[in-house]
Amino acid sequence: MKKFSIKRGDEVEVIRGKDRGKRGKVRKLLAKEGKVVVEGINIMKKATRPSRRYPQGGIVDIETPLDISKVLLLCPRCNRGVRIGRRVLEDGTKTRYCKKCGEIVEKM
Ligand SMILES: [Zn+2]
Repeated sequence: MKKFSIKRGDEVEVIRGKDRGKRGKVRKLLAKEGKVVVEGINIMKKATRPSRRYPQGGIVDIETPLDISKVLLLCPRCNRGVRIGRRVLEDGTKTRYCKKCGEIVEKM
């Protein structure tokens, strides 16, 4: 399976499409499809019948998956979506870092 630089729980910025510039947290990574579901991004209105979750039925907002190539991990120092690299530190700690400023975004 292909390795993605984005993981569930990441803070990302959308770089393409109608939600360009918006930010949110990755709720789900659909590795097989190469897609992500991001909080508040790619919202579609969907008509639903009344259910336990939506007792009134009607129109609900659904977050739909978008292509993983449309989002970049947010670097706290650059304060924007950036390309991410991987690096293993001398002590063996695996990290993901911002290719722009070198900031370590995450230690794994
Ligand atoms: Zn950075």
